[in-house]
Amino acid sequence: MAEHAQTGPLRLTTQYVPEESRVSTTAREFRMREPGFGRVFTEHMVLIRWSSDNGWHDAELRPYAPLTLDPAAAGLHYGQAVFEGLKAYALADGGIGVFRPGEHARRIRRSARRLAMPEVPAAIFCQAVDALVHADRDWVPAEPGSSLYLRPLLLATEASLGVHSAAEYVFLVIASVAAPVSVATPLKVWICEDYSRAVPGGTGAAKCPGNYAASLLVQEQARGHGCDQVVWLDALRRERVEEMGAMNIFFVFGPPDAPRLVTPPLSDTILPGVTRDSLITLARELGYQVAEEPVTKARWRAASADGSLREAFACGTAVVVAPIGEVSSAAGSWTTGDGRAGPVTRRLRQALTDLHRGIAPDPHGWLHRPRLEISV
Ligand SMILES: *Cc1c(COP(=O)(O)O)cnc(C)c1O
Repeated sequence: MAEHAQTGPLRLTTQYVPEESRVSTTAREFRMREPGFGRVFTEHMVLIRWSSDNGWHDAELRPYAPLTLDPAAAGLHYGQAVFEGLKAYALADGGIGVFRPGEHARRIRRSARRLAMPEVPAAIFCQAVDALVHADRDWVPAEPGSSLYLRPLLLATEASLGVHSAAEYVFLVIASVAAPVSVATPLKVWICEDYSRAVPGGTGAAKCPGNYAASLLVQEQARGHGCDQVVWLDALRRERVEEMGAMNIFFVFGPPDAPRLVTPPLSDTILPGVTRDSLITLARELGYQVAEEPVTKARWRAASADGSLREAFACGTAVVVAPIGEVSSAAGSWTTGDGRAGPVTRRLRQALTDLHRGIAPDPHGWLHRPRLEISV
């Protein structure tokens, strides 16, 4: 693949929705009232092209609209696509903070590398995010726990049915309003023992659409068993717990006065979550022990039964932190803890959401305040 020296920001052409066509304040407030997740999109998008001849070029901020794609676009046929998910929050001081965009930029580069795609430079990724948040700042919801969910996507657009890494791509960023996720009721989870999300040497550590497509049938299976989410085991022995749905998983072992958090160690079958990484750091700062070590389904069951495992929770950008209650598998069901969100789960969720809102100290500089004036 041709190398291009482009690493700094690009010249971004901006075309805002004309004043007379903007969504009115009343209409916007109506649409933001119960946004759910991933349905209410904002008024602008960023679109940047890459070709093997020109590298990154044609960077635009423009009105949100359908794309024109050649029906032979390689990404549609062979799944050469990677994406990200990150959030912008309204801060208590009236500003806007994007949570760890640099980490998301790093991850999409690693995902792109795995799928033989051009790596979006961090400066371009962050510039695109800033420009969109700036243009659509009125769509960042104020209610605590709600957010503007940003979805960067890199997609192969070259019209070619030959099976090879494409020579043309588009990098997009769109945004949608996300309601707070209620965690009043712990998740019921289904341990999947007949399908795998990720295999050693596969694409499990890359955020690519194919991983999601492959999970949908199993998600339906979980629903059929009365569960909300799937727990994925290692593909080879189906013993070790790896992830939950599209979230990472943590276990909290006792005793209550000295909890010990355990999360599976990263490998090429586990998506390296930014939330997972943030919680490991926050938990240590709160004085908890944290270990990255494998947990088998057998240990999960036995430690739930003898009371040494007190809590389990899942985490990810969309949900933040979600407690796990009932666990079902082909071999039977059990409950972790007392079936309610435990104190460590609640404390970590609070610590992270306080950070998101800018009301907790941010010693690591995780909240990035987009420059609300972008030079073009
Ligand atoms: C995105 C994702 C996560 C969570 O990552 P965050 O950066 O915390 O949002 C976990 N597992 C899978 C499979 C994912 O796709």
